[in-house]
Parts: sequence; structure tokens; C-alpha cells
Amino acid sequence: MATPAARQPPLPARWLALSFLAAAGFTAPAAALATSPAAATVLSPFAAVTRPCLTTAPTPPDTILRVTFLDVGQGDAVLLQAPGGQTALIDAGRGDIVPLLRELGVARIDLMVATHPHADHIGGMRGVIESIPVRFFMDNGEPHTTATYRDLVAALEARPEITYLEATPRTIALGSATLEVLPLLPRGTAELNDRSIALVLRFGDFTALLSGDSEVRQLTHLVGLGVVPGLTLLKAPHHGSDNGFTWGFLQAARPRVVVISVGRGNSYGHPRRAALDAYAATARETFRTDLHGHVQVRGFGDGGYLVVQGEQVASARAGEWRRGTEAVAAGAATAGSAARAPASPAELRITVQADAPGNDHRNPNGEYVIVQNSAGEAIAIGGWRLCDLANHCFQFPAGATIEGGGRVVVHTGSGRPDGERFYMGRRRAVWNNDGDTATLYDSKGATVLAYSY
Ligand SMILES: [Zn+2]
Repeated sequence: MATPAARQPPLPARWLALSFLAAAGFTAPAAALATSPAAATVLSPFAAVTRPCLTTAPTPPDTILRVTFLDVGQGDAVLLQAPGGQTALIDAGRGDIVPLLRELGVARIDLMVATHPHADHIGGMRGVIESIPVRFFMDNGEPHTTATYRDLVAALEARPEITYLEATPRTIALGSATLEVLPLLPRGTAELNDRSIALVLRFGDFTALLSGDSEVRQLTHLVGLGVVPGLTLLKAPHHGSDNGFTWGFLQAARPRVVVISVGRGNSYGHPRRAALDAYAATARETFRTDLHGHVQVRGFGDGGYLVVQGEQVASARAGEWRRGTEAVAAGAATAGSAARAPASPAELRITVQADAPGNDHRNPNGEYVIVQNSAGEAIAIGGWRLCDLANHCFQFPAGATIEGGGRVVVHTGSGRPDGERFYMGRRRAVWNNDGDTATLYDSKGATVLAYSY
């Protein structure tokens, strides 16, 4: 008799067994996992979840979570790097991403997640597993019929030290960040895309949703469960396809920034105009790997974030980034909570004082932007522009520089520039107190750095 299981390539015994054990509530050997029921109760609506703890080392709460959307062409590969150095790789694109991971300083992957077994998500996993130590591997427990999938299983089989986790609802600690695994549609009731593993990443007030190639059915399911929170960051489901969003979903998710992982000139027509329009209508900004290259969103515990792109991401190794230690006044919305700004790969840092003393509109010089250069050498910024989200811009005059270790301050109002202080010449406030983005463009119009609060 041909059962559904018999029609599919058999899953090696260990994986079937682990899959079964995981479904039964088993998580992993106690030595590898520490559970924290109290934290799980607080952090997750799923009271019975276990909380595999990928580190026991305390991490400072005031550092940065990095979410990097690797430019892997048509596919997904999202690298999460927690402040304490823990890493998770959510999908691995279609081809070889090992050189890219090495370039980003990844020496170990604590958790690898295959959101669903399509080749544009798992094709690169075998190479990663064979090259970089992986501690935990998670999938949705559903086998697939392709050679790519069988290759992945063979690679896992050859690495018995990797612990398998099935994507049952649970909360996983990634250092001081957490990954919440959302409930899947029941097996057999949905196509592969609609059984993508959906993860909510939290780091303080910063939240992100990553859900592979979810389509309308799964997105509706998630909205119905009430598990899609107001988000800082949304990975556009299904590469920006028009079946990868619903208005109800976007209204529940309310993302501030959307990143679309999509290949240049792909044959699917991704991203679709309808999706781009929907993101433009609901999110503050949208980035695309086909246009921007690698896109890295750096999340801060107060919910602020900063986006760097392209070469800046690939050239910045994890160990070379210094932790931001300066408290930054970032406007009324974050008053009382200090936003932390990192050193950028270019050694520049933007901070925004959006909330001027008194009435902002009567005191335009009371709001200002500081651009700090922590490199040893001066940086020429003549012709560079500093703009808010509404495109109010200031252009630095020819010859302007930021001294090594120095800074420039751009006030909103009027005054006489002295080489360190500049004035936009506006009579009213520019920087929104309840959130805005300060973007620095070079003289050719390329984005150097964007800071959102
Ligand atoms: Zn895909």
C-alpha cells in the first residue's frame, strides 16, 4: 500500500526519530539546552514551550542585534547575530554562501533554520554544514522529494553532533535576543510555502518577523492567532510576491522597515508592484537585496534601528565593530531610554536630538544632528547631504570635513557655520519627535548611513 510516507524518500532513521521526539515535547540533551520556564512564560504566549538556551553567558543589554539579509540572488539567507555573538542562519539561499559567512566573521552557527525545503532556501545549507560548526538545526518536519533536500539530509546525517529541533511552538534564547517559533498550519493542510517556519525575533523593543515564503493562507492564519505584533522589521514574505502580503497582515504587523530578499531579473517577476505599493503604504522604508545588495538592520534594545547596505555590510567583520556606549537623546518617543548608536563600518555615527527644549518650532536650533567620526583620519564631506524622511535636506559646503575623532553638528535653524557647526536655515522643526530617519548621502547620492529612531 502506498502511504504518503512511502511515496516520499525515506528520512534517515535518526531524523525521523528526532522529529518524533521533538513532536512529543522532547527538546535536546540537557547538557546542550538550558530551560527557563519563567522566562518562557514571560516571553511567549505559548506557556508550555521549552526555551533552548544557546548561551549561558550574560550579555550586556546595551548592544546591537544584527539582522543581515544576504544578497544571494533569488532566495533567502538571513543571518542573525546577537549582541553576545550567538548566531542563527535562517535559510541559506540556493548556492554557496560559505565565503560570505566567513567574510562576515561567522565561525559557528548556533541555530540553522530551514523555513521550508525549497531549493532557494536550503540549497546552500549542505555547504554550510560541511564547513562551519552548527549546533542546532530546525525544520518544519516535512520531507521533500528533491535531490537538494536529500543532499541536506545526507549532510546532516554526517554530522551527528548537530541537534535536531522540529518547529513546534517554542521560544529560543539567542543570547539576549529571543526567537519565538509560531504555530504552523497543520501538516497536510497547506502547500510548502504556507508551512514556512515563522519566527518572531525580539531584542528589547526591537521585533522582527521572518516567515520564509508564507503566502496569504499562512499570513491569515498568523493574524488570526494574534501573534503578529507591531514590528520593527518585516522580511517580506515570499520575495515580495503579490501573494506574500495581505492588508490585514500588514495592518497587524505595522512594520517600520521591510526588507525584500529577491534576485535581480528573476523569472517570477518578484517583487510585484502590488506588494511594493502595499509596503510603501504601511512601512516607513523598504530595502531590496536586488537593488541594495546585502542589507543589514541593526536593532537596538529601545526599538531603534539603523540600516547599512552593500559593501558596508560585507566589509564589516563582526569583531571589528565596537559596541556603542554613548547615550543618545533620540527624541520624545524614546525619552528616558537611551538609544545606542554603533560605529558604522565607515566609522561615522549619526545621532539626532529631535526634541528641542520648549516648543520645537520656536527653537529650531534646539534640535540638531551630530555626525561623529571615530576614525583617526578626517573624512571629507563636501557635497554630502543629510536628509530626514520627508526629504528635508542639508548639503554640506565644498571643503567641509569631519576631523578624525571629531564631529559636525547640523542645527535646524539659522546661524553662522564655523566648520563644526552647520545650519539648515529652516524656521520650523524638521526632525519628528516620534520617529524619523536621518540619512547621510555622499556627493554622488549613495547612502553612507541611515539612522532611524
Ligand atoms: Zn523562496
